[in-house]
Amino acid sequence: MGAGIAGLLLGSRLFSDVILFDRRRVFGKKCTGIISRHTFERLGVSKEYIDAPFDTIKISVGKDSVFIKTNIIRLNREKLERDLAENLKVLHPTSVNLINEHCVGTNVESFCGKVILATGWQGRARWVKAIEEEKEPINEDFISVFLDKRNPAGFSWIVPLGDRTLVGAISYSDPRLFVPHIDKRRIGIHGGIIPRVKPKKVTLGYIGDSTGLIKTFTGGGIFSIARLLEPVQNWLVYDKDYSSELKLLSKEVSRQYLMTSILEKTWDISLKSIKLLKDRTFHINNEFDLHSLLFKRLFSN
Ligand SMILES: Cc1cc2nc3c(=O)[nH]c(=O)nc-3n(C[C@H](O)[C@H](O)[C@H](O)COP(=O)(O)OP(=O)(O)OC[C@H]3O[C@@H](n4cnc5c(N)ncnc54)[C@H](O)[C@@H]3O)c2cc1C
Repeated sequence: MGAGIAGLLLGSRLFSDVILFDRRRVFGKKCTGIISRHTFERLGVSKEYIDAPFDTIKISVGKDSVFIKTNIIRLNREKLERDLAENLKVLHPTSVNLINEHCVGTNVESFCGKVILATGWQGRARWVKAIEEEKEPINEDFISVFLDKRNPAGFSWIVPLGDRTLVGAISYSDPRLFVPHIDKRRIGIHGGIIPRVKPKKVTLGYIGDSTGLIKTFTGGGIFSIARLLEPVQNWLVYDKDYSSELKLLSKEVSRQYLMTSILEKTWDISLKSIKLLKDRTFHINNEFDLHSLLFKRLFSN
């Protein structure tokens, strides 16, 4: 159920008799698409879907900045989703309901087999709003992130790509207030809402945001998709249990949830602490995905 990036990637690894259902008419969701190189490699897709590599993120609080040296890429997920959908049997626009563990149904028909839920998050969460503008290109080769004391636990960004620039913000309030200004013509705009989920017991048979295993602060969901693709595939084909991988991910996201809650409550002080680190450069690797390690890295140096 669901032919977003999670359903499509999993479907492309499975048998020819897999059927995906999606209520959308058009495939190819727009999002910032920033993921670690490691996450990209786990997706197992061609390098043609890398729009741009980045090795620097500049994080600014007012006039003060710290620099993150890392290895990340911008995924062209719009094209990836469109290409995957073309080569799979996707019934759409078709809304389906879960009838029982083994069957899904439309208004007129039911389909039985092994059911995987890739429907996006459907439970309770603290939702943050996101908005992103596509503007004409700028001549920069690093990602800028801005933290603002008026936007607790939110942030805004500028991502320069070859053919355009992504300029956006997430916030509990109105994200439009925090979108950085660049003096370039707007080509497009899109948005969405991002769930901040405290993981509960995660069961087998889910992939993507439907698991709730989403990086709490940034809303990045592609990281857990990459981690779960092979385990879910092995579960479907060989009945191999992957509870231990789920537990690991759940533990990490629980830590991120706790840390984000603390950040929300101590936002002013946290920003002042970042200012104390101004002009410093930090090298981060797996901390890009495992944020719980990131905070340790920043403040233990
Ligand atoms: C502005 C923005 C920027 C983002 N940037 C990043 C980023 O830089 N890096 C990152 O890792 N993540 C990012 N994300 C998060 C990322 O987009 C999600 O983690 C990702 O889309 C999750 O994929 P999914 O396939 O699980 O869910 P979705 O993409 O939500 O797909 C679920 C699909 O299921 C379908 N569906 C649901 N219910 C039914 C039903 N009953 N019947 C039929 N179809 C159904 C929906 O139509 C949908 O197509 C961003 C999100 C936003 C909004």
